[in-house]
Amino acid sequence: MTSTTEPTTAGLGAAGAGILSQDIEEIASLFSVSRTDAPTSDDERAAMLESPKFGTVFSDHMARVSWRRDEGWVHRRVEPYGPLRLDPATAVLHYGQEIFEGMKAYRHADGAVWTFRPEENAARLARSAHRLALPALPVDDFIAACAVLVRTDIDWVPSSPDSSLYLRPFMFASEPFLGVRPSNEVEFLVIASPSGAYFAGGVKPVSIWVDAEYHRTGPGGTGAAKCGGNYAASLLPQEEAAAKGFDQVCFLDGASNTYLEELGGMNVFLVMDDGSVHTPELTGSILEGVTRSSILRLAADHGRDVVERRIPLSDLVEGLGSGRVTEVFACGTAAVVTPVGRMAGETFDATVGDGQPGELTTTIRQELTDIQYGRAADRHGWMRRLA
Ligand SMILES: *Cc1c(COP(=O)(O)O)cnc(C)c1O
Repeated sequence: MTSTTEPTTAGLGAAGAGILSQDIEEIASLFSVSRTDAPTSDDERAAMLESPKFGTVFSDHMARVSWRRDEGWVHRRVEPYGPLRLDPATAVLHYGQEIFEGMKAYRHADGAVWTFRPEENAARLARSAHRLALPALPVDDFIAACAVLVRTDIDWVPSSPDSSLYLRPFMFASEPFLGVRPSNEVEFLVIASPSGAYFAGGVKPVSIWVDAEYHRTGPGGTGAAKCGGNYAASLLPQEEAAAKGFDQVCFLDGASNTYLEELGGMNVFLVMDDGSVHTPELTGSILEGVTRSSILRLAADHGRDVVERRIPLSDLVEGLGSGRVTEVFACGTAAVVTPVGRMAGETFDATVGDGQPGELTTTIRQELTDIQYGRAADRHGWMRRLA
């Protein structure tokens, strides 16, 4: 029924490390594939893959699964990429019942396409769904949808250095009604966007404004869920910080306005002069990044002390002044690891180290991308082959 690429074990270790499970392949085979009758031509696509601005170019198809309260998940399909037709009363447009994920498909040197820890994204989508009163999509269905889309649009996975096919799975309340209750109809989609190197022309340190005026979330709120509403709340602070000349905002906790939490879409790390690596502990209002957890692991592999704790802003300010904090970086799937060169707030303005990317920041970024692009052994079993 599909014209998708069959998975093979070619190029994999004897154990078939990283291959998708038989259960996932069985679900993948349930997807019907209806191909666009107006595919992008090879020349056009080559031009689009040249140096796409993040999130502006999309592949020819999208994966889709529907949910009805009385039927569960139904109608698994891949269809041509295109606008959705929505009733003006569609629930998501009014009450914001929406969640999403962000992942990448990486082209390895032998042409195979892999992704990174998709089970983690699938599990997080299920946790986000719980918080937003949306239905949980089983982990295997999530991975199968990503695999089928990547196989259908395999030619859209770029191969230039640090490029990838960014995958955006998302779920929203699609029932047309204005009552305030969880939707009885939900759509799950995966769209794909080729993306070039995030830092064209080399990794550059960013400046961060530590915001004591706005919060992205609060105790008991949706901070640990990856939902569109959190991003909506971060836009005005981001704009105001940009007007002051800063690249990004770091938010403090909403309860006491004291502890570092994270950026609008990235987790944050400090490296101390004793070599230890610190990041805010998960308090329920911080998004648990897959990159964050991977970096904690890689830093521990280096024999570093890794410390998840509440980090008061005053500690950071003192540490930047005394030199006790030697490096700061932000992390997330899109930019991987972003060095921070300057941090400021109402009462301080400090250069981090010498303002250049720190040593551990650079090492961790290289190690993580080497694993993702297949240049280094996948010693933690993080990679999954999609095609
Ligand atoms: C997605 C996201 C991150 C990063 O998560 P990754 O899984 O590493 O991509 C961090 N903070 C917020 C608020 C996010 O939405």
